[in-house]
Amino acid sequence: MTEQNTHFDIITIGSGPAGFTAAIYAARGGASAALFGGVAPGGQLLQTMEIENYPGFAGPVVGADLMQSMLNQASRMGAIIFRENITAVDLSRGPFALIAGSGKSYTAGSVIIATGAQARWLGLPSEQKYIGKGVSGCATCDGFFFRGREVCVIGGGDSAAEDALFLTKFASKVYLVHRRDALRATFRLQEKLRAAPKIEIVYDHVPEEFTGEARLTGVNFRNVRTGAVRRLETTGAFIAIGHTPATKIFDGKVNLDGSGYIVTDARMGTSVPGVFAAGDVMDTRYKQAVVAAGSGCRAAMEALLYLEEVKK
Ligand code: NAP
Repeated sequence: MTEQNTHFDIITIGSGPAGFTAAIYAARGGASAALFGGVAPGGQLLQTMEIENYPGFAGPVVGADLMQSMLNQASRMGAIIFRENITAVDLSRGPFALIAGSGKSYTAGSVIIATGAQARWLGLPSEQKYIGKGVSGCATCDGFFFRGREVCVIGGGDSAAEDALFLTKFASKVYLVHRRDALRATFRLQEKLRAAPKIEIVYDHVPEEFTGEARLTGVNFRNVRTGAVRRLETTGAFIAIGHTPATKIFDGKVNLDGSGYIVTDARMGTSVPGVFAAGDVMDTRYKQAVVAAGSGCRAAMEALLYLEEVKK
């Protein structure tokens, strides 16, 4: 199998831990396997500094390094990795048809959807105005530009905590602003936050308006208990309020739940026989790299069984 082929037994869409694990199992299971991973394969873990809870590493592992190892492993098993996205799918009959960003068409006996999730925005008009001009959804990508500046991170989960800790490498001060009086982030990350002298946690505040001229100069927050407005003079605001599943191209093709997650059965099957889903795109509860990897394994094993059944 090479990149010239246009038909594969199993095509996996997405290049996080679920996608790469699915490709590893599909190829190792004897199927012709391809993975479409986008221009920068790796998924959300590319934006994670240190992973401490992925088994097999005694010390912290950098997200990008872990993903590169998974890519190399999938390639070594014989999976063909395409560095482009799938932009449209026809799942109405098999073999399933997929159109890539290049415009080229591919077909597959079985498809595994592992497109993960994308960072959410608050949805304030002023937020949209300053995206790329001080408002960012990716601390790992943009933190460098805020050397010596005061910045804020909005959110209270693991992502917000990790972003705040990462930003202390560059910023002179980091405000972590959360809408409640208790963080959602895991205990260990909370301990790290409290031990970081540059971080100030601001509880019970929600952003009301991002303000500035050409670039962001400050954010007005409202105290949800008193209604008082507190302004933080920050030139950087990092939004870390969770993720939404990346299912736009599958809407109307497989069943989605009310939040846009792909609905799967106990065997990772979607509403279309032969189409499976794995990882954060269907995981409404755990959203952990190791869980995603496990579900990618399950999806690939089910896809291999499905292909056997179809052959009979
Ligand atoms: P999350 O756990 O869903 O947390 C989102 C945070 O944003 C919550 O604190 C939430 O507040 C807040 N929020 C949501 N909507 C908001 C809004 N409109 N305005 C203000 N605040 C808002 O998302 P996440 O932090 O991205 O984590 C997702 C999953 O990935 C989790 O399972 C997490 O454990 C995992 N993860 C793990 C690691 C790691 O292990 N190193 C790193 C990153 C993420 P409430 O608390 O009030 O709901």
